[in-house]
Amino acid sequence: MAYDKDNIFARILRGEIPCNKVHEDEHTLAFHDINPQTPVHVLVIPKGDYVSMDDFSANASEAEIAGFVRAIGLVARQLGVVENGYRFLANNGADAHQEVPHLHVHIFGGKNLGRMIKPPEK
Ligand code: 5GP
Repeated sequence: MAYDKDNIFARILRGEIPCNKVHEDEHTLAFHDINPQTPVHVLVIPKGDYVSMDDFSANASEAEIAGFVRAIGLVARQLGVVENGYRFLANNGADAHQEVPHLHVHIFGGKNLGRMIKPPEK
């Protein structure tokens, strides 16, 4: 899948759409999800043009991958969710209902999240 330069997160990265930023560095941006599912719900995205985890894991540089993983940990610490625990999750592709075609990791926390993901209602 080719990268869509007009996806919503590309527009946030270009400053065309505002976000509630919690962290930014050379390789990553983190901001609050517009429709939070849990008391803490933050998205961490790489600045590079990567559609998904599949694209990122195959094509990103070592520095981008290291920077992204470091940023996820740092943001979780900054949000204060480490002590009680948090979940990080990335939807990849259609079956996972990935809505925005720019890699993003969700950080969920601030309450007991249950053991696993609830399957959709049939
Ligand atoms: P996905 O289903 O692709 O893993 O999740 C996309 C996430 O992006 C959703 O949780 C949705 O609420 C969030 N989102 C969509 N558009 C915007 C936006 O314009 N700003 C922010 N902050 N979050 C967004």
